[in-house]
Amino acid sequence: MERVLIVGNGYAGARAAEVLGAVAGFEVLHVSDEAYPAYCRHLLPGLAAGERTAEELFLPTENGNGRGPGARSGIAVSRLFPKARRALLSNGEEISFDKALIATGARVFVPEKLRHIFGRCGNVVAMRQMKEALSLRRILEGGKPRVAIIGAGRIGVLLAEALKRTGARIFLVDIANEILPTMLHGDVAARLRPHLETEGSLSVLMGSEVAGAEIEEETVRSLLLSDGSILECDAVVLATGVVPNTEFLEGEGPDRTDGLPVDARMETEAPGIFAAGDVIRFRTVTGKTAPGQLILNARLQADVAARNIAGERATCPPLFVGNVVKIGPVVGAVAGDVDGTGTEEYRVGDSFLRVTLEGGGMTGFQFVGLPEDLRGLVPGVLKRFDAAWVRQALTASGGPGFSPSVLAGAGAWV
Ligand SMILES: Cc1cc2nc3c(=O)[nH]c(=O)nc-3n(C[C@H](O)[C@H](O)[C@H](O)COP(=O)(O)OP(=O)(O)OC[C@H]3O[C@@H](n4cnc5c(N)ncnc54)[C@H](O)[C@@H]3O)c2cc1C
Repeated sequence: MERVLIVGNGYAGARAAEVLGAVAGFEVLHVSDEAYPAYCRHLLPGLAAGERTAEELFLPTENGNGRGPGARSGIAVSRLFPKARRALLSNGEEISFDKALIATGARVFVPEKLRHIFGRCGNVVAMRQMKEALSLRRILEGGKPRVAIIGAGRIGVLLAEALKRTGARIFLVDIANEILPTMLHGDVAARLRPHLETEGSLSVLMGSEVAGAEIEEETVRSLLLSDGSILECDAVVLATGVVPNTEFLEGEGPDRTDGLPVDARMETEAPGIFAAGDVIRFRTVTGKTAPGQLILNARLQADVAARNIAGERATCPPLFVGNVVKIGPVVGAVAGDVDGTGTEEYRVGDSFLRVTLEGGGMTGFQFVGLPEDLRGLVPGVLKRFDAAWVRQALTASGGPGFSPSVLAGAGAWV
């Protein structure tokens, strides 16, 4: 019987355990450093805000969520030797395996200037693991409602939006000039920001850097910003980007920023060692490589990896990259590549759309508006709709996205 080691119990690890659990002839050892069953990580802001319970986040048992017979939770793989096919666990155990899946996701990237407070001060957390969301919730429930969120990317913004509803006093701080700096162009994000700023007690402090912290008994009491202002706070959340968890792999340094490379079978450079989810970088539909960031991609990649581990010959198609942030009734969304120069703007329904048309086709878009106006836009990128057709359809319809009747006429895909 072949022994398969799955490292990590997020969306990718859980999906692989589910697939391999249904195949005879494999012993699956599923090791996860978190002490919980697999859960919906994207709901952590809601958990921190007290809108959901931890149990509501857990994936169903049949999803291979780390409750199976070979599951070890609360134990990390401290070192993995791909060539020797051995691993050391944090409880001192040493194990051997035939094949492995690395599904260790990513952790917060801690900027040099903040390293002295993260891990040392009990009121400084990230928003990547359940224990962190629960710890922020305890601080808020303890009647300490002033939260400084460092980083106005997707996680920082989603957390600010969730905490607004708790009545907390929130400061959202970022060195960039506009929210969601790696997701939307500044002028597009500026259309979304007023929706974030309505209601609640939220100060969005863009163009600000944390220059120092006042620490008392291992607790941050206030942050000093680069403009000289002081933010008194009860909790600090770092939402300063992510780095893939690869440092436990023999031969990897501590801060690989771009993810493990894999082939279309999800196999790494080491034969028999597969990887999936946020820990990898992969080929996208537009031909570029990108780090993981979507649940859907993590699950699909893990599915392919598990099937190959089981002896099939499965390949993963180039995947979609995109992101959506919902603020009240409005969404900000991005899909595909938006860095090209061929951009055009349209009004779709009641919403704003900037499409990127490169090489005669639709390669990406940015959107701020109502979810129903997004209709048909993602297929436009996935199928690379013809640029001339896109122009004509968007000008003629003036209505929401590409309506089904307009889409039905979309014969000309590049
Ligand atoms: C707040 C938030 C909101 C999000 N919103 C969305 C959204 O709306 N839509 C969307 O598609 N995606 C969203 N994402 C991203 C999505 O959650 C990730 O793409 C997804 O979780 C990736 O799954 P994964 O299995 O690769 O990694 P993870 O879910 O990160 O799981 C990896 C697991 O491996 C464990 N691990 C790490 N190292 C070791 C080790 N050495 N030994 C044992 N275990 C280890 C980690 O602790 C973790 O439990 C969001 C993420 C966050 C944090």
